[in-house]
Amino acid sequence: MELKEKAEFISDTLEGLLGVPTRDGAGDVLECLILTILSQNTTDVNRDRGYAELKDRFPTWEAVLQADVKAIAVAIRLAGLGNQKSRTIKNFLSWLKTERGELSLEFIHDMETEAALELLCQHKGIGIKTACVTLSFACGREVFPVDTHILRISKRLGLIPSNCSAEKAHQVLPPIVPEGKAYPFHMNLIYFGRQICDARKPLCERCPLTHHCLYYKDNRPT
Ligand code: SF4
Repeated sequence: MELKEKAEFISDTLEGLLGVPTRDGAGDVLECLILTILSQNTTDVNRDRGYAELKDRFPTWEAVLQADVKAIAVAIRLAGLGNQKSRTIKNFLSWLKTERGELSLEFIHDMETEAALELLCQHKGIGIKTACVTLSFACGREVFPVDTHILRISKRLGLIPSNCSAEKAHQVLPPIVPEGKAYPFHMNLIYFGRQICDARKPLCERCPLTHHCLYYKDNRPT
């Protein structure tokens, strides 16, 4: 089976198993970016806690920009990596204000996807995954963010080589993602990774993809 065909089969199977996720609707782009920065290396719950505390202490982006980087780090500590993330947020807001004169990223809606990705990724602390999540979730763009679940499952299923880095996976996977399915496929792989294809103990006995799985082939019970 060709990789494109295989990805389509996996996408269809996961939709049969988990449904077809839809976006909530376009949100504020800057808010989405900051939330995504906060979500790096942490859970959704702790990301939301960090974000709530940030907004509680600094209700506007202008207030965040004016705040000391250490005070931002304290506010977002529940999201982890406070020092690193606070510098990323402060530096980005500072750049945005200087560059655009206002703390809004809505202009990204008018940009080509590639140019928007490049613009976001030029900032320290904003990688390709963070940029792709922002453009997918807030702008409805057909981009495919690769998180830890997606990287692991794609390797197990043989969609990418076992030594493929997350960075490289952002180049290799998009061409084989079924057309128009970037968002539902992304979301379903994450749900699948949380519910069935766990990192340490995958529930292969409940998986409809065993026939296509390299990991299962090598590890199935004899
Ligand atoms: S067979 Fe097991 S390892 Fe392979 S995709 Fe399914 S749950 Fe994951």
